[in-house]
Amino acid sequence: MRKGDSPKRTGILLRSLVLLCSVLFVRELTAQDLSYYLPDSFSYNPAVPKPKEVIHHEVGEWHVTHDRLVNYMKAIAAAAPDRVKLETMGFTYESRPQVLLIITSPQNHQRLEQIRQEHVQLSDPARSGSLNIDRMPIVVYIGHSIHGNEPSGANASLLTAYHLAAATGKQIDELLNDVVILLDPAFNPDGLQRFSTWANQHKSKTLVTDPDSREFHEVWPGGRYNHYWFDLNRDWLPLVHVKSRNRLQWFHRWKPNILTDHHEQGSNATFFFQPGVPSRVNPLTPAKNQELTAALAKFHAAFLDRIGSLYFTKENYDDFYYGKGSTYPDINGAIGILFEQASSRGHAQQTAHGILRFPFTIRNQFVTALSTLEGAKALRKEFLAWQRDFYKNAMAEANAATVKAYVFGDAHDKTKTALFLQLLRQQQIEVYALNNAVTADGYRFEKGNAWVVPAAQTQYKLIRAIFDKTLQYKDSVFYDITSWTLPLAYGIPYAELTAASYSPSLRGEPVGDVTLPQGTVNGGKSGYAYLFEWDEYFAPRALYELQQAGILAKVATNAFETTAGGSARRFDYGTIIIPVSLQEKNADELYELVQQVAQRNHITVYAVSSGSVLSGSDLGSGKMAVLSKPSMAMLVGTGVNALDAGEIWFLLDQRFGMPVTHLETGAFNRVKLDKYNTLIMVGGNYSELDKDKLKNWVQAGGTLILTEEAVQWAARNGITGVTFRKRNEQQQASVLPYAEREFFQGAQRMSGAIFRAQIDRTHPLAYGYNYAFADLFKSNAVFPEKNKNPWSNPFVYGDKPLQSGYITGENYELLKNSAAVLVNAVGAGRVISIADNPNFRAFWLGGTKLFMNAIFFGRIIDAASAR
Ligand SMILES: [Zn+2]
Repeated sequence: MRKGDSPKRTGILLRSLVLLCSVLFVRELTAQDLSYYLPDSFSYNPAVPKPKEVIHHEVGEWHVTHDRLVNYMKAIAAAAPDRVKLETMGFTYESRPQVLLIITSPQNHQRLEQIRQEHVQLSDPARSGSLNIDRMPIVVYIGHSIHGNEPSGANASLLTAYHLAAATGKQIDELLNDVVILLDPAFNPDGLQRFSTWANQHKSKTLVTDPDSREFHEVWPGGRYNHYWFDLNRDWLPLVHVKSRNRLQWFHRWKPNILTDHHEQGSNATFFFQPGVPSRVNPLTPAKNQELTAALAKFHAAFLDRIGSLYFTKENYDDFYYGKGSTYPDINGAIGILFEQASSRGHAQQTAHGILRFPFTIRNQFVTALSTLEGAKALRKEFLAWQRDFYKNAMAEANAATVKAYVFGDAHDKTKTALFLQLLRQQQIEVYALNNAVTADGYRFEKGNAWVVPAAQTQYKLIRAIFDKTLQYKDSVFYDITSWTLPLAYGIPYAELTAASYSPSLRGEPVGDVTLPQGTVNGGKSGYAYLFEWDEYFAPRALYELQQAGILAKVATNAFETTAGGSARRFDYGTIIIPVSLQEKNADELYELVQQVAQRNHITVYAVSSGSVLSGSDLGSGKMAVLSKPSMAMLVGTGVNALDAGEIWFLLDQRFGMPVTHLETGAFNRVKLDKYNTLIMVGGNYSELDKDKLKNWVQAGGTLILTEEAVQWAARNGITGVTFRKRNEQQQASVLPYAEREFFQGAQRMSGAIFRAQIDRTHPLAYGYNYAFADLFKSNAVFPEKNKNPWSNPFVYGDKPLQSGYITGENYELLKNSAAVLVNAVGAGRVISIADNPNFRAFWLGGTKLFMNAIFFGRIIDAASAR
């Protein structure tokens, strides 16, 4: 046996032991029957089907597709109904079921609802004191492969389900008596399906282990992501996706004590389990959480030692951003555990440790699911007590805190405010209508348009995680973003209320189910014109629906006052005007359409009967610019940042009902571009793109929208004249010892923070914003100098732009007084450069208007203002 053939699981230490190596290798060849995986101390009920009987291959022989995975889970539930109950949590974008197995002893199943109700009382300090923890089962949620191309977890769930359903004897009976298991076989069904198809279609009968083989190199965008190319492991807090919302309902229905999150890492690594880097734990997470994580880690170590697997802890991974599956539980009285298995990516691949085989990766995930359950059983009372204490302590902290409540609301954008309310309710947060007007932090909050979140409630910790700004950090290296203050992300006015400014009398009715505002036509049918303002979230969708129906619409580039609905009313910059006489539809048909559009988009449309205004420009003025319907393409494919492109696809498709062609970079050079008036480019490598063709298209009148690194690309390739500020790289040298170099490099990375830009509200790109600023999210090192023409920098950063998050002093100096958004006229066209990410993870609703303005109003920006 050649050295290189040694299976990774023998570990490098054993390589020289040829005899032992060959014994293990023989076992590896037969690895695909269940004996390779299952502990030998159990016998199994033959009435429960083994995976192969349902999915038609051994575990690890092929990558299980999501369909087969679900089939097996159904078969398990059917064969062992006294232990296993299958629930369907919902469906993905591609209509795959999200199934959840509830596994516990037959006795527990008989009183499952009672167990659940008692269990969730641990999270309620008002009731938890009287509970008897001695007899309560612990609840463990086991979750897999939220990144679809990290499949060992999902494949291991076949084994976990089989073992828990079929094992017999005292040991399993005791486990199932003490533990209620929520087994989620696949956090990301659409991604798993995509990846399994790729890996399987490239499998050779004679396994090819060369890492350069196509099997190990998925085509763009890969199976990591969900349908819209999002990383679902960032969505536990913002809940943008239906999958996350479905899953979270079950999380809170059961409030597990432990949640496991089974991932994969680079192929040359070993196995990671938490705790992660101690200095990178979110300060809102209590120290006890990490103690319990460490106590559980002893079980993972012992179980992995037993099968000879190498592992590491306390490095690389952190517990900071609560949108991750292994961190979200930490702010909910539970313990989240991240597992990271070195990925075979396909079926077997050469690595630094020899050949890494898919079954080996599956076995480590299965073994750590078992170690989690064993640890949960052994530490049951400690975990249950911790859940109770977490909420008791949180309430005590809330009562002692300076901030007594948070007030928020945007009278101009009721829909966006309602979407924020929905999020808070989904996160189990109590919210009340504001009962009396209050002024705080420079904002006036009025009854009817504002809400209040008292701090003293069960979810106090999570409220802090949502509302806090963060400016102090123990570490300067981050695995993910450093701040996500959600009212800033939504762009909704908010303020903290202290004992001096808060009284319980500010609380009105509690908010239950949140519905979006009722859209109406104020003033009924018009024979002259309809108007609607641009500040409501779905106003752009309303405009697009009208344009789709062939309606000619104009936009007001000046504010004006006119009589609407019987009284004088001011209409702001960006008001949309639909003159009745210019349409092909008659007045009745138009009214019918406008009513539907108002209702579907939750906006108020005003009927007016005259073009003569009280002040400002009349409706027939040249200041009312005719709008053309966007016809859009976005460049996608290899080299393009899939996350950024996916955010735009999701925004346009799911939120705004607007089609966007996905134009492959490889196809760009041969397609006719004149069918598009708008092209979108996000950060990416566009080296093969025909730059002259792109520039000619802009010169002929196209609107090119660039975000993040694409701003640099366009400047580098002579499409714009934008220039950039750069860090003096010389300063880096010899600051830290070699062994600490990662800290220097890591700190310089722009992990993501929130900055406030000053905006010119009269500029078309700022229409719909109601304040002189907008909060933007930056996670790149693109720092453009302002254009010389002052009207071509509608969003700029001032001297103190940082709102929340971490940035090094060097980077901050570069950001201060730089441009956030620039417009450059190129021939008859416009290039709109947005240096930040206005659509960050689709929860940055405060950037939506900027992006939609670029799409709808880019063409009406005065060319002279941008040269
Ligand atoms: Zn992962």
